[in-house]
Amino acid sequence: MHVFTRNSDIHNALANDKRLSKSIGFVPTMGALHDGHIHLVKKALEVCDCAVVSIFVNPRQFNNANDLAMYPRTLENDISLLEKVDCHYLYAPDESEVYQNEGIQDWDFGNLMKTMEGEHRPGHFNGMLSVVHQLLSIIQPHHLFMGEKDFQQAALVRCLLGSHHKEIEFHLVNTVREPDGLAMSSRNVLLSPNERKLAMMIPSALKKLAACSDLTSCVQEITSVSEGLSNSGIKVDYLQLRNEEGLEEITHFRGAERYRIFFAGRVGKVRLIDNMPLSLSQNTR
Ligand code: AMP
Repeated sequence: MHVFTRNSDIHNALANDKRLSKSIGFVPTMGALHDGHIHLVKKALEVCDCAVVSIFVNPRQFNNANDLAMYPRTLENDISLLEKVDCHYLYAPDESEVYQNEGIQDWDFGNLMKTMEGEHRPGHFNGMLSVVHQLLSIIQPHHLFMGEKDFQQAALVRCLLGSHHKEIEFHLVNTVREPDGLAMSSRNVLLSPNERKLAMMIPSALKKLAACSDLTSCVQEITSVSEGLSNSGIKVDYLQLRNEEGLEEITHFRGAERYRIFFAGRVGKVRLIDNMPLSLSQNTR
């Protein structure tokens, strides 16, 4: 695997591949890689001739200085995980290289950007969209791979592709989970053993709600499930039923839409998010 830290170096290497008509798949990450990330890389390798992974802990998307300071950084281990799956390129720039002379950009994708994580992490999506836009401009991939775990992020990046990078094909990749159901996350290593046990209540809660036979019972159960999490010591930011299209909160049946349950909250000091699609047999009331 080739490891680059300079925009011009990765750009030149990829220009060569593109001249040879090779397709480029891109997986942006913040490192501390786990099997969820590697699953995305494997998908990129299935679809494309070359896979590029970026590792960049983007300060502009952290709305909390402590969260940024605590974020795990494991570059040596990340490199060996990527080499094991025969990833072609790792791009690991520093902040000045990524942003060059770009000032802060203001993105506006309406309610999709303001709700859920937009509300609870002010500035987060603006920083995320800025870095993804910069990285896409440097790498100019044919395909982009992102995880369903960060569903709202993926929805916003889809909007970004629609407005600024129409030529890139988007792939949403399913969430990889630990055996007890907890969604893999770089932040999981920050959980104490007790917090780790508590955290498995999150996927259990989502699974219970996702299995509701109709929307009314799902909406009715949300309050008691949320209270159950809170009473166990999880600080729930939100546990909500939303439609997939616009991420609007749903309180009653609205027709043949796809629905999903979204969770965000804190276990100890560690903020976790997760979501699951509703498995209604028909979209029934
Ligand atoms: P991150 O390093 O947390 O910014 O994540 C980089 C990419 O990996 C994003 O597209 C995430 O949605 C995706 N990702 C993170 N965790 C998982 C997981 N457990 N399963 C699948 N994809 C994931």
